[in-house]
Amino acid sequence: MKKVVKFGGSSLASAGQFKKVGDIIRADESRRYVVPSAPGKRFSADTKVTDMLYDCYRTAVAGKDFSQKLKNIKDRYQEIIDGLALTLSLDGEFATIEEQFRQGAGEDYAASRGEYLNGIVMAAYLGYTYIDAAEVIFFDEAGNFLAEKTDQILSKRLEKEEHAVIPGFYGSRPDGSVKTFSRGGSDITGSIVAKAVHADVYENWTDVSGFLVTDPRIVENPEVISTITYRELRELSYMGATVLHEDCIFPLRKEGIPIHVLNTNAPQDPGTLIVESTCSKPRFTITGIAGKKGFAAVTIEKSMMNSEVGFGRKVLQVFEENNISFEHVPSGIDTMTVFVHQQEFEEKEQRVIAGLHRAVQPDSIDLESDLALVAIVGRGMRRTRGTAGRIFSALAHAHVNVKMIDQGSSELNIIVGVENRDFEVAIRAIYDIFVNAQL
Ligand code: ASP
Repeated sequence: MKKVVKFGGSSLASAGQFKKVGDIIRADESRRYVVPSAPGKRFSADTKVTDMLYDCYRTAVAGKDFSQKLKNIKDRYQEIIDGLALTLSLDGEFATIEEQFRQGAGEDYAASRGEYLNGIVMAAYLGYTYIDAAEVIFFDEAGNFLAEKTDQILSKRLEKEEHAVIPGFYGSRPDGSVKTFSRGGSDITGSIVAKAVHADVYENWTDVSGFLVTDPRIVENPEVISTITYRELRELSYMGATVLHEDCIFPLRKEGIPIHVLNTNAPQDPGTLIVESTCSKPRFTITGIAGKKGFAAVTIEKSMMNSEVGFGRKVLQVFEENNISFEHVPSGIDTMTVFVHQQEFEEKEQRVIAGLHRAVQPDSIDLESDLALVAIVGRGMRRTRGTAGRIFSALAHAHVNVKMIDQGSSELNIIVGVENRDFEVAIRAIYDIFVNAQL
């Protein structure tokens, strides 16, 4: 059994957190490859080391004195090193960083030092080999991740190592310069390492006990999802649920390696297992509920629209020409509605309306703003009769007016459009009927 374990910033924010992580790793000898993030927040008003680095580097680039800002960063690491009673000095590393900052080594270089240094501390603490991610994770000149080259070199390198620490978030370009993934990208490094060593499982340790059925800011103490498929996760993440970086799914999906999301502060909790497919029945008919506010609906009405070949294409082309992506397109016999992001649409509104008039000569165009979309996602819905009925009766009881309904053809999700002000009420009502009523 081989496991890759990734620890997020809050799991490594202090010496106390490092000790918890050490206990977790030592408790299971299959936890052989460790991917750390940079130290995160110790308390809610704290600043992540990554943000301190960006800030410090900007000060350096502006030609201002950045010594105090760099010292504050060094102090964060020193506090961890002292708390772990390690005899490790980062003086040399910080001298190099200072020099590189002066020479304008770039924002990516600056940000990556958070993980780079934390990896050094982690390797010293665990007694594992340290591998600089710049030597094993590769990007092209344009900054695109090179999956194949990375997989080849990384897997060869790790074959020789029984245990290793590989810092998350960055790699290098052909000229040796550092390139980072987007924010939260240590999750992606963890996936890449898991693929390279053909891990049995990729454990992603964070500060929550897995994915919640819905947003805890809307429903108090929601249940944890025990097993979720990659597809369900994608639907939920797209609609706003965030725990993992979206892109970390791709390297693993093809390999069928599950991701286990676990809580460093409550390692006994079962967490959430993310899998390619499963026979395990979801605990509730639905797996999760997520949603987003801030949509607008453009309804185009024209008699006999249904028999006019090319009508839909012409309508959507107007949106395309204005560089607006659409979310949903429910249609009737004489009407077609296009759901768009309100913010994106607002500034181009009049141009779109004029474009629609020119393109399809509609009888009327009606605009409605301040709408929200709620996605009810679940692999169990396909097998269960009456799911849609239950959703709509719950919404009716909660006095929520449903503006739009869209069931994806995969039967994996049902999306309902409601007014922004009904958003929270709608989510609570759906949660009640599927989860509270089934507990
Ligand atoms: N430290 C980086 C960030 O704050 C990457 C990560 O934590 O995954 O975005």
